[in-house]
Amino acid sequence: MIPMMSLSSEKSTILVVDDYPANLHLLLESLKEAGYKVLIAINGESAIRQAGFAKPEIIMLDVMMPGMDGFETCRCLKQQPNTRDIPVIFMTALSETVDKLRGFEAGGVDYITKPLNIVELLARINVHLELKRAREELKKINQELQETNQKLLDSQQQLERMARIDPLTELANRRDMTERLEQEKQHSERSGASFAVVICDIDNFKQVNDNYGHDCGDIVLKSVARLLQANIRAQDHVARWGGEEFLLLLTDTNDSGAAKFAERVRAAIANEPYQYQNQALAITMTFGISMCQADKGIHLCLKEADQALYQGKEHGKNRVTVFRQTA
Ligand SMILES: [Mg+2]
Repeated sequence: MIPMMSLSSEKSTILVVDDYPANLHLLLESLKEAGYKVLIAINGESAIRQAGFAKPEIIMLDVMMPGMDGFETCRCLKQQPNTRDIPVIFMTALSETVDKLRGFEAGGVDYITKPLNIVELLARINVHLELKRAREELKKINQELQETNQKLLDSQQQLERMARIDPLTELANRRDMTERLEQEKQHSERSGASFAVVICDIDNFKQVNDNYGHDCGDIVLKSVARLLQANIRAQDHVARWGGEEFLLLLTDTNDSGAAKFAERVRAAIANEPYQYQNQALAITMTFGISMCQADKGIHLCLKEADQALYQGKEHGKNRVTVFRQTA
């Protein structure tokens, strides 16, 4: 009696290759009865052609055939990308070790000896179908894992980006700028170049919020952020430092260059027409500058810029002040 095939191998297609009609007939009948779809080929060339377009799940391949023998046929199948993954089981009357070895070397997964024992043949087919399915399943799972990994990586990168951006103004936030300042400090220690830290603050911002509401305050913050961003050089950085305070990092700059630059930005902010619900708003900013050199830490630099800013506020706002060591 022929054993029942497992449900999972239902409708599997098997290509049988043999030059001997009686063998083909026996295999065709037995495999059909076991529920397989069967394709037949009587030589190597025809086997390679059929395997290429019919994509059988398994190939039963006779070794001794006129012309192209089974080994050569198998090597050809293994060289083609679209047939290389189809398991090949050799059928051979030769049971010497050397021939079995040649079969494995040619890329076969198994062999059975003639005369064919149908029970053994079906059992081996089943094993290799299961193995093939397991391999395909693994490949699919691997691919899904890779996709999931990529998605995780993307979300992580997005989270990292979000953690460095101020959501209202879309400028870098304090955390991002703090890291940049440290990097710039390290760079300047190596290169000897100085850089400027500019802290700027919107004048009378509390009055804007009190008189027109926080929506208006937000619009002003966004406008100022846009103007700051538009006025810096490509190598400089701007961040929302907190509340209505912004910080500019100007690379490779001396104090007069920084002052000139800040003055230009100050003028751009002051000359911009701001409107809220058809009312014109007068917006100005005060700027405090400190130069950061190799021997001065970031913390001190920020403190000095803050002091300069405070002086500017004391002296009437809407101005640029460079920190000077007072005698
Ligand atoms: Mg033969």
